[in-house]
Amino acid sequence: MAGKKVLIVYAHQEPMSFNGSLKKVAVEELSKQGCAVTVSDLYTMNFEPRATRNDITGKKVRIVMHLQLCRPDLQIQSVMFILIFPSFCIYVKCQNQFSWILKEHCALSNPEIFRYGIETYEAYKKTALSSDILEEQRKVQEADLVIFQFPLYWFSVPAILKGWMDRVLCQGFAFDIPGFYDSGFLKGKLALLSLTTGGTAEMYTKAGLSGDFRYFLWPLQHGTLHFCGFKVLAPQISFGLDVSSEEERKVMLASWAQRLKGIWKEEPIHCTPSWYFQE
Ligand code: FAD
Ligand code: ZN
Repeated sequence: MAGKKVLIVYAHQEPMSFNGSLKKVAVEELSKQGCAVTVSDLYTMNFEPRATRNDITGKKVRIVMHLQLCRPDLQIQSVMFILIFPSFCIYVKCQNQFSWILKEHCALSNPEIFRYGIETYEAYKKTALSSDILEEQRKVQEADLVIFQFPLYWFSVPAILKGWMDRVLCQGFAFDIPGFYDSGFLKGKLALLSLTTGGTAEMYTKAGLSGDFRYFLWPLQHGTLHFCGFKVLAPQISFGLDVSSEEERKVMLASWAQRLKGIWKEEPIHCTPSWYFQE
């Protein structure tokens, strides 16, 4: 639909892959509709998947002032004192009778014991998260629909996409306590998992070897996307890629393109435990 904004978070290493083809189909179809489509191509971006203290950046506050202890008779061109306190650093530089104090707030609220969830929550409020996280959050904020395109890895998302979820969907931005599930901060947005599997559709039934495909969707659709407030559209699962024929793959691509034509009229799934485990 013209004017709608779509973010595709894409996690495949190879543009010629089937995932690459599915992504291409989505970009083409949605662009044809007049949607503004943005792609986060995680491998090409070399996206950092690890949730570390590097995600919290310092904000420097510079104060220029005359300092009593700098005496002109000292004839010292440059003296440096670096005083390190638990929660902040003061860097004092004396040059003749003038001095500068650069007060750099240490980014961490508790530098002694690092707690990623708490620190990123605080950093989000102070706009002190690393720029790659802020950029992805901006894309999510603008999007009406977020499509995740990925191959199933161990009944889950590839690590690079898991890292995107861990780092981008932080407390304060995507949810708060309270402020989750239907009250999650991304409410009003749609999310859709478009994934490929090696296993066949038959394997992913209740009686099949791998169990119902809805079981592995539970942590992703409910525990992550719904938790953050997204309304979840039915997943697009291209099954059995590792044993598929060229013809079957063409049909899967065509059905994705066809579905996207009516995507804005779709109703979200009822994302409750029963959708996954009882129906
Ligand atoms: P590709 O191998 O890239 O593509 C399949 C075929 O489609 C290729 O021959 C390609 O040339 C062809 N193709 C590409 N574009 C087109 C086009 N436009 N038209 C026609 N053909 C085209 N599977 C499971 O089911 N469960 C798991 O838990 C699981 N865990 C895994 C864990 C790891 C670490 C790995 C590496 C794989 C795992 N798999 C699992 C398998 C994996 O999900 C599949 O291999 C993957 O989904 C296939 O998608 P692909 O895009 O990589 O396919
Ligand atoms: Zn749910």
